[in-house]
Amino acid sequence: MDFELSAEQRMYQRAVHDFCEAEIKPRAQEVDRAGELPWTAIHKMPTLGLTGLQVPEEYGGAGMDTISAAIAIEELGRVCGSTALSISAHNNLGCGPIVHWGTPAQKQKYLPQLTSGEMLGALALTEPNAGSDLANAQTIALRDGDHFTVNGSKAWITNPMFAPVINTYVRTSKEVGSKNFNLLLIEPSSAGVTIHAPEKKMGLKGSPTQMITFEDVRVPADQVLGEEGRGLHQVLATLDAGRISIGALSVGLAQGAFEEAVRYAKQREAFGNKISNFQAIQWMIADAALEIDAARLLVYRAAWLKDQGKSFTKEAAMAKLLASEVAERVCFNAIQIHGSYGYSAEFPVERMYRDQRLMSIGEGTSQIQRLVIAQRVLGEMA
Ligand SMILES: Cc1cc2nc3c(=O)[nH]c(=O)nc-3n(C[C@H](O)[C@H](O)[C@H](O)COP(=O)(O)OP(=O)(O)OC[C@H]3O[C@@H](n4cnc5c(N)ncnc54)[C@H](O)[C@@H]3O)c2cc1C
Repeated sequence: MDFELSAEQRMYQRAVHDFCEAEIKPRAQEVDRAGELPWTAIHKMPTLGLTGLQVPEEYGGAGMDTISAAIAIEELGRVCGSTALSISAHNNLGCGPIVHWGTPAQKQKYLPQLTSGEMLGALALTEPNAGSDLANAQTIALRDGDHFTVNGSKAWITNPMFAPVINTYVRTSKEVGSKNFNLLLIEPSSAGVTIHAPEKKMGLKGSPTQMITFEDVRVPADQVLGEEGRGLHQVLATLDAGRISIGALSVGLAQGAFEEAVRYAKQREAFGNKISNFQAIQWMIADAALEIDAARLLVYRAAWLKDQGKSFTKEAAMAKLLASEVAERVCFNAIQIHGSYGYSAEFPVERMYRDQRLMSIGEGTSQIQRLVIAQRVLGEMA
């Protein structure tokens, strides 16, 4: 067993870290305030592979391993939750399904646009009345000769306003059954597609989250991703991989808040002492160091299993569950260590606390992660 990153992974981590410090951290407060992604920085991301982390090089991607991809998302999360979420969703939800199930023609058409740093990818699963319960999705695509006609709506979708194509989860029949779902590549410019104004959210304000409605949208039949009837399976596999990334993003948010808290504790004085000399503060710092390490190791393990071609569903759920809950506790205590200053929008821990709240909801709530883990454990021990 080897707990060291490879020399290549360490070099990549350093390069992304430096890029984030120079290009993203200085803009993070403004991203949150204005509710806009830092496009000047995003345009520069292709040189570091950030807009095509696991996309093959022939399509403009970096073709990286999953640990390197997790490292990149952690570094982004450390400085800006909004940017990290949009880039994570772009890579895992937008590019991932096309890389895995796209035909050569679909890959050639969409992946170079997606890796260009000019656009971002999106996956539309959630609906106003169906989030965790994906088998209850009602957006319907009925076959009509060489086309599908799509009707329905999706809610809470990351990035659609910047997407050349939206991987859209649809049912192809009104009947109940796991084989009645497809992923369809729908271009937002198609007649009948409406992308609504971004939701007003508690955090991650720079990352657009939008409702999409489909009214008699005609989609050519060759826009199905992969084998027909495999939509639910494809979505569950995509979420498994996405959870490694949300775990990494959570570790990044916790790491960023932790560093702010340590810096503040070493300079703030009370009762004639640096507050870092108080045991109560030291315990919060010790717990954060411990929990961030544990969460990061779970993220790396899930990523490693994926790279080995081994099953990683349970481990990805564990990583995402622990890391998101660690981010909550670490960001909470980072504000505590800052006292009133932590409650001020002038200090980054206030934004980090708001941003982390999504991590135990998106790509499967903590309850759903526990369900996934329990099902696997009970199955293994049957
Ligand atoms: C900022 C943001 C970005 C997002 N980005 C995307 C995106 O890009 N694409 C996309 O498709 N979706 C996206 N989502 C949606 C997100 O994935 C869903 O909101 C999430 O999966 C939960 O679904 P829901 O909100 O419908 O909650 P529900 O499924 O209605 O759940 C409500 C509550 O019930 C609990 N619950 C539900 N079922 C069970 C069960 N069987 N056992 C125990 N408890 C249960 C849940 O844990 C939760 O506490 C995003 C959401 C946000 C806020």
